[in-house]
Amino acid sequence: MTLLRQPIVYIISAPSGSGKSTLVNEILKAISGLDFSISYTTRPARGSERNGKQYHFVTRDEFDRMVEAEEFLEHAEFDGNCYGTARRFLTEAQRKGTDLLLDIDVQGAAQIHQKVPDAVSIFVLPPDKKTLEWRLRKRGENNEDDIRRRLETASREIEEYERYKYVLVNDQLEKSIERFEAIVLSERLRREGRTLSEQERAIVERAERLRLANLKDKVQPILASFRTLAPSAQP
Ligand code: ADP
Ligand code: 5GP
Repeated sequence: MTLLRQPIVYIISAPSGSGKSTLVNEILKAISGLDFSISYTTRPARGSERNGKQYHFVTRDEFDRMVEAEEFLEHAEFDGNCYGTARRFLTEAQRKGTDLLLDIDVQGAAQIHQKVPDAVSIFVLPPDKKTLEWRLRKRGENNEDDIRRRLETASREIEEYERYKYVLVNDQLEKSIERFEAIVLSERLRREGRTLSEQERAIVERAERLRLANLKDKVQPILASFRTLAPSAQP
């Protein structure tokens, strides 16, 4: 009897605009055997988004039907829209022997932690609030109310970073991609349970430096920048 290898489930969460989609795209190109779970959502497609690529865009009725039929591993409401991870992505990954990457919010991450206790969670932070605002604008977000709302949501979300295993401050993109790769590879290496080469040990050590407990000092000034009252779009 062949035992199916359990997929490693990686969860990535971040305030909108932190650069999470950019990092996810890069990691999927760089690492083989890692599938992306394409979530279902009731929100309308943005810009160049295509149905079945970034998301499966569905009606509220269809979403409710899927909830009723217990087709979701987790689901949550975010900013007035529904989002959910279909169970079939996990069974499919198990069948194929791949790992699975979920880009989900903090509520979804909490549900996955319950159901898949050894899921590897990563919280991405922007370097500070100003940079987040600038990235939201760069991404094409130009409605001032939307920006204000996203920054407010971000301020709440980042307070949840302590629930995650790793913290990745997305300052320089290249460095962030390397750090993300180190986390993914290190978690695979740990599970192999064999003696590691010097190069592999270096990867594990690199990832270790991104563990929550080792990042707290770096995170404090970022949190402080979000706790300031003023909406930052001042001249
Ligand atoms: P998210 O998926 O978190 O909402 P995106 O990946 O869409 O964010 O990134 C928001 C904007 O910030 C995009 O214009 C992207 O090119 C840019 N960006 C992402 N990471 C970095 C980085 N490390 N440095 C500078 N700009 C970045
Ligand atoms: P956006 O609308 O900006 O693409 O995503 C908004 C938020 O929903 C992000 O925090 C994103 O991670 C989260 N999200 C995307 N898909 C899912 C999902 O399937 N489940 C949950 N819980 N959150 C999701």
